[in-house]
Amino acid sequence: MDKKRNVLIGCAWTYANSDIHLGHICAYISGDVLARYHRAKGDNVAMVSGTDCHGTPTTERAIREKTTPNAIVEKYHSQYVEVFKKLGFSYDCYTLTATPYHHEKVKEMILKLQENNFLYPKTEQASYCPKCGKFVYDREVEVVCPKCGAISKGDQCGSCDYVFQTKDLLKAKCRICGSETEIKENTNLYFKLSTLEEQLEEHFNNCKNNWRKNTVNETQKFLMEGLHDRAVTRDLNWGVEVPFEGFDDKRIYVWVEAVWGYVTATMKYCEENGLDWKDWWIDHKDGTNKMYMCHGKDNIVFHTIIFPALLLATKQNMFLPNVCVSVEFLNAKGEKMSKSKGNGLTMVNILNRFDPDSIRYFCIANGPEKKDSDFSSEIFISLHNGDIVNKFGNFVNRTLNYKGLNGILPNGEIDPYIRKKFEEVYENTSKLIENISFKDALSLIIDLVEDCNKYFDQKEPWVLFKNDDKTLFNNVIATCVFAIANFSNLLMPFIPFSCEKIRKYLKVSDNPVWKVIEFNGGENFGKFEPLFNRLTEKDFE
Ligand SMILES: [Zn+2]
Ligand SMILES: [Zn+2]
Repeated sequence: MDKKRNVLIGCAWTYANSDIHLGHICAYISGDVLARYHRAKGDNVAMVSGTDCHGTPTTERAIREKTTPNAIVEKYHSQYVEVFKKLGFSYDCYTLTATPYHHEKVKEMILKLQENNFLYPKTEQASYCPKCGKFVYDREVEVVCPKCGAISKGDQCGSCDYVFQTKDLLKAKCRICGSETEIKENTNLYFKLSTLEEQLEEHFNNCKNNWRKNTVNETQKFLMEGLHDRAVTRDLNWGVEVPFEGFDDKRIYVWVEAVWGYVTATMKYCEENGLDWKDWWIDHKDGTNKMYMCHGKDNIVFHTIIFPALLLATKQNMFLPNVCVSVEFLNAKGEKMSKSKGNGLTMVNILNRFDPDSIRYFCIANGPEKKDSDFSSEIFISLHNGDIVNKFGNFVNRTLNYKGLNGILPNGEIDPYIRKKFEEVYENTSKLIENISFKDALSLIIDLVEDCNKYFDQKEPWVLFKNDDKTLFNNVIATCVFAIANFSNLLMPFIPFSCEKIRKYLKVSDNPVWKVIEFNGGENFGKFEPLFNRLTEKDFE
């Protein structure tokens, strides 16, 4: 028996500034697959995330729409909650960083960093907009990237992903009013990231074998450049207040408090459910911790370096995320999908047209797991009609609606070859999922669906039925229903809605497990409604 593990799953926090699109879902879906799988394994799972409310993307949007940041947050937060619900994301806590709870817990962490001597004030030159009467930073300014020369918003280069340093922003243009900025002295609190270099390198070396190539490369590149201390405060009036005197006009920098949301969301979940957040966040040193962080490739170092640095700096023996699940980009017709472009693939739009299981299936089977991938209606239709309808849907339908059954699902001997196949697939998909190879895990299961379809064809139950070969007929049908019951375990992380329909029909327990289950037959089963309809190009018009 495996030891019960404490598995924390964090999905990246979505910025409350525009519609959520399919590219985001490709990153977050890994989290839901992992959560559902680990629950089936019997592990102690907490899946958390929330809406990232602070920072300039939100204030920018508020200015543009002539409203308050809070109104922007409410609008997008409720959209994200709705989208995740419709997609069946099984968050234990999906919260937002604008809650008083999060603010208080972040302040406690900041005080801890101060107590541990990780913070210091630093006065330096900064971009000041004389017209706006304030210091302006990252997305509020436009700069020329010192790495590649592209003109970009000042948080991160839109062309080469370089993250700008304060010194890169001195000669900038204010994006709020268009004025050239001036250089003026400003005092901010800084975090001694540089002092943690050795520990972070050690963490990197401990984990890199579990990470995808891109995660390793990006992190290594960042470490090679040398770690610089980072400002933890900035001039803003929207965000978490700084718990020290003299910083009234500043807020905690969003990079600090948003990643800390993984901790505060777990605390909130635990407080509301009589659990202990330390089960997940304190290192038990006995191999029972596991922590997955699921995000897009533009977010890698925040999860492999920055967040672990904060966890280390609390000196509370906190567990550092050991599996980073970074996905590449989903392109639409070869073009990078971004929140600002949207490319028509907003989730509100997609969910209005398509079955959530088909969307989830697409995100895994053709998602940008290890390299960029493309969205097209042809691929979406071919996965839906090919794998979901023709393979899985067909096997379920031809078995459960077999015309001679009359509502009776017979008991019988399960074919040993099929049983053995299932045992193998449980074990092999387990390895693949824990190695964050979701696409391969899913295709193993679909291969098994194909094996079952072949089994059905070869055994010719219609001949057995016609010849009144009752025992053999019952064995074949019982084997197929056994397979369907087990598929409703194996496919639950990927297409949960269909699996729930099957479980309800077969009256199988609501709680999937990751091992072979038996089905003993029964009476009074009604007609089974087909799981899916076929799609055509018309559905995309
Ligand atoms: Zn650049
Ligand atoms: Zn300005």
